[in-house]
Amino acid sequence: MRIPHTLRILCAMSLILAVPGLSQADTTKKAAKVAAKKTATTKQAKKTATTKQVKKVVAVKAAKKPAAKQTAVKKPVVVYPNVTFDYTPKEITTLCSAALARANRSLEALLAYGKKTKTPGFHYTFVPFETAIAEFDEAIGTPYLLRYTSPNKAVRKAGAFCIRSYFGFSSKLFARRDIYALLKKAAANSKGLDAIDQRLITETLKKFEKNGAGLSEKYSKEVAQLNAKLSQLGMKFRGNIGEDKTVLTFTAKELEGVPAGTLKTLKKDKKGNYLMRPIVAGQYISVLRNAKNPETRKKMLLARQSIKGKENTALLEKIIALRHQLAQKLDYPTYAHYVLTERMAKNPKTVKNFLQQLRVKLTSKLDAEAKIFLALKKKEHPKATALDPWDWRYYNNMMKKTMYAVDGEKIREYFPMNHVIKTVFDIYQTLLGVTFKEIKPANAWHKDVRLFSITDNKSKKIVSYFYLDLFPRPGKYSHFAAFGFQGGRRLMNGTYRQPVSAVVGNWQKPAKGSDALLSHYEVQTFFHEFGHIMHQTLTTARYSSMAGTSVKRDFVEAPSQMLENWVWKPSILKKLTKHYKTGKSLPTKMLNSLIRAKYADAGHFWTRQLFFATVDMTYHTSGPKVDTVKVWQEVAKKVMPVTLTKGTYPAATFGHLVGYAAGYYGYLWSKVYAQDMFTLFEKEGLLSPKAGMQYRNWILERGSTLAPSALLKGFLGRKPNMKAFYKELGLK
Ligand SMILES: [Zn+2]
Repeated sequence: MRIPHTLRILCAMSLILAVPGLSQADTTKKAAKVAAKKTATTKQAKKTATTKQVKKVVAVKAAKKPAAKQTAVKKPVVVYPNVTFDYTPKEITTLCSAALARANRSLEALLAYGKKTKTPGFHYTFVPFETAIAEFDEAIGTPYLLRYTSPNKAVRKAGAFCIRSYFGFSSKLFARRDIYALLKKAAANSKGLDAIDQRLITETLKKFEKNGAGLSEKYSKEVAQLNAKLSQLGMKFRGNIGEDKTVLTFTAKELEGVPAGTLKTLKKDKKGNYLMRPIVAGQYISVLRNAKNPETRKKMLLARQSIKGKENTALLEKIIALRHQLAQKLDYPTYAHYVLTERMAKNPKTVKNFLQQLRVKLTSKLDAEAKIFLALKKKEHPKATALDPWDWRYYNNMMKKTMYAVDGEKIREYFPMNHVIKTVFDIYQTLLGVTFKEIKPANAWHKDVRLFSITDNKSKKIVSYFYLDLFPRPGKYSHFAAFGFQGGRRLMNGTYRQPVSAVVGNWQKPAKGSDALLSHYEVQTFFHEFGHIMHQTLTTARYSSMAGTSVKRDFVEAPSQMLENWVWKPSILKKLTKHYKTGKSLPTKMLNSLIRAKYADAGHFWTRQLFFATVDMTYHTSGPKVDTVKVWQEVAKKVMPVTLTKGTYPAATFGHLVGYAAGYYGYLWSKVYAQDMFTLFEKEGLLSPKAGMQYRNWILERGSTLAPSALLKGFLGRKPNMKAFYKELGLK
């Protein structure tokens, strides 16, 4: 499936990537990743309306909104974002089909213009084309957000239906030969444009070409058929994982070591035995990390690696074959070449070299950690001579607990939610020259949701808004993510469309009058997601397709990965912590052990990432016929000393292979640039407004109006390099 812009929900990747497989909730997330993210403003919805009914709906909504009242007053005290959320399911459906009809009309008008003129120009072709898609994105932005956040099931369902119709439209759009032909002609006529307009031409045409719009009618049809087939097979692959019903039964004795927190969530059979589902990531990892009995861990690991084994392996190999066929039709040697042509890394050779170089450097670190794991194993099992595949996570966890004395529950007492939010906001405001102001009431989609305006300190003007929706509810999106549901772009009247984003999370809701206590990991996730919010809301990019986080996929995580560094620095940790009873900040001893533990298993953690990235890249550069099990084994032999048990199929539950498709390396790749960017803050100061403004101007505001390498060079004042990345991994 192709989508117009790089529209996606942005999540904390480290958690996802730590688990090679999907829980049911993950499956939802994968679907979400390719969804749209901008919303219908009231004004926009008005434009979108084609029927009297919709016009009426919108008029009523606008009248209800305090914003409408406020802006009528000369000096408004409170200015709300131009969005509304109280739609009925029927209104969402109507609004959605009106948006679709409008987009189609805009495209027809574009083609009609093309027929009338022999020399179509940029401003009458590329600009209206870009605008039509932006308006569609904006119109479905609110339904899209509500699909994941509305407390009303029927509204969520209507939102999901709306997103499906959007997909239907967008998957065909960039395969249209008639529109491509017109734009191509216009590109040839377009002279004297600036670099950003030029970039719009290049990037737009590239999207069409990647979908076969530049081929003959016969070939173009074949490409469309392949894409449709691939989308269908991918859904089947993920659906199989989601539908898995495998249940394992364990006695309490067999689960010795598994935390009470996990056990509490498990169902029991009549005999009082625990029932566990290996496909549920939380249960799987909890056992692998904590169960004292190696047989329990083995049973769990093998059960997971057998799920949908033959069926999904066959599907995966079919997908790889069709992807290869697609790439060849479009004149690329392999599918990885096809994907990487529009990524920062550009080609598989660069990625392979990068991974190879990293592997060499990581080897000694992994070996040293493996020695520690084996020594710990020998203490429990004196006759042991080697680590088994089900031992790694267990002894890794044991090492952290025993050698670094990090007690997560104790640390939690120092991170009361309200203090953390306030401090994180203080840090971002200091760095980026902005002021956040809470607006009450938020008039959002649920009473727990809070709304903030973002004012630029220099111009004193509100530039954008964000919502915080932090607590779980039935039916709500179950991870932590940044939803940029209304994007920025320059409007025809010269003003800038204010972006609106939302942090959607699932922190435990505090009891009335008390404060929730967060884990250090949760604080890091918030810092990360808020980094995406800043990227989305401080954009000043001219076009919607270049605004905010619409950047190359192997660069999009870099800004937020960089910001994660703050929560590991002593001076910042002192600010972020405030014991919920004593009010004291985190004691230095605890702080130091927390930081030291971060690096303790760097070899194991990064080698796993490297392993998955290498498997993914090998699958997509090895031609049409790939024995996925054999490749998995061969890469494991080279990268990670973990043997595969006969009859198991770990790739069958590794949903990322379908979703990321030659893109798994991106997490490691963007980390390089994250760490390199961080060096500037290390030099200038973690709270340096000078460095912060440089970051805002070069990285956050520009989106993809420049290539990532140019953004980085502008920000750093030099070419990026890998030194800081290796240093972060404890490598030389
Ligand atoms: Zn992220």
